[in-house]
Amino acid sequence: MLLVSLDGVAPRFLGRGDTPNIDRLATEGVRAEWMTPSYPSLTFPNHYTLVTGLRPDRHGIVHNTMQDATLGNFWLSNRDAVGDGRWWNGEPIWVGAEKAGLSTATLSWPGSEADVQGIRPTRWHLFDAQRPIPERVDMVAGWLSEPPATRPRFATIYFEHPDAAAHAHGPDSQQLRDALRQVDAAIGELIERLQRAGVLDDTDIVIVSDHGMAEVPQSQVIVVEDMADPAVAEVVMTGQVVGFQPREGHVQAAESVLLGRHTQYECWRKGELPARWKYGRHPRVPPIVCQMDKGWDAIPRQYLARRPAGTRGSHGYDPAEPDMRAIFIAHGPSFRSGLTIPAFDNVDVYPLLARLVGIQPAPNDGDAATLLTTLKPESPSAH
Ligand code: AMP
Ligand code: ZN
Ligand code: ZN
Repeated sequence: MLLVSLDGVAPRFLGRGDTPNIDRLATEGVRAEWMTPSYPSLTFPNHYTLVTGLRPDRHGIVHNTMQDATLGNFWLSNRDAVGDGRWWNGEPIWVGAEKAGLSTATLSWPGSEADVQGIRPTRWHLFDAQRPIPERVDMVAGWLSEPPATRPRFATIYFEHPDAAAHAHGPDSQQLRDALRQVDAAIGELIERLQRAGVLDDTDIVIVSDHGMAEVPQSQVIVVEDMADPAVAEVVMTGQVVGFQPREGHVQAAESVLLGRHTQYECWRKGELPARWKYGRHPRVPPIVCQMDKGWDAIPRQYLARRPAGTRGSHGYDPAEPDMRAIFIAHGPSFRSGLTIPAFDNVDVYPLLARLVGIQPAPNDGDAATLLTTLKPESPSAH
């Protein structure tokens, strides 16, 4: 089976002329009205939720940027941290598969560059934004076209292009539409390669995104140092989910300036966050968490001058915001045809993946029943 991630793609981006290949897979296979991301609606937390079925609060990737008392600092381009299995709790699908003696291959998936439980995919690659799209397609099509003896049982492919274009120019930009056309063409090419190799009918394809995207008008940015004086609280997470660690002896001062409702955001003690976010117990979640309102960014003052003018895009807002909705499409021999299912939470994807790969799922927060209805009754995966 092949798991495809289109970073930042919202359901409203599909079916409007830019994505004929993805739309065809959705029509011929299964599609969800939408998929609700987990909190926070950021890239690393949600990619790792998709492959573990665990909420970020349980799998430990609680933000793209984190502090851990023993491990230090985590951020996306910190290769040492991203590749260190101690950050990544739980059991990603490829680890379960490898333990069961099945081979796996990733290009690239957050967590797959790390030795989780001491195990990596049989074939894995460092994330490289410079790797051209055709090369990505060629590598993954090549893996899936190998003879059964070496063909991976589970593979991933990842495209960051829609997310990058929408961040820089906004979700309604031509640049986003161009990026959608690019990744859609890549999926078309991948399908054609699998067809030519005679393996398309043996390949289950699940296409997901990690979150959607909201428009951020030019002036809708605040400075984190203005939220709380750095002498009173250290900022440990920025963006849309902003985390503060009060300085020693300043807890009360930090709480009095931060907690509660503000014009563009609201802050809580970590133990008092809205229950529906299922967030706040992990030690890596800082004592005070602020959620920005949709359409607002919070950045360090040093980045303010460098921020390009114009409309931008962001995610990281409340997963219940319609703009944060993610996509789910499934196509292949195990799946029904022409089925649209209601919205569901992205923790439910992992039990489906485990079933498709043919392994016992590890303990998770998902509901295996949610996606059971998407499988053909006669498919081996349905039993
Ligand atoms: P964000 O929009 O901040 O939530 O993160 C999206 C960005 O994460 C993408 O544009 C990529 O540049 C980056 N990214 C995605 N996968 C990886 C990875 N496996 N390792 C490092 N960075 C990644
Ligand atoms: Zn993302
Ligand atoms: Zn993003």
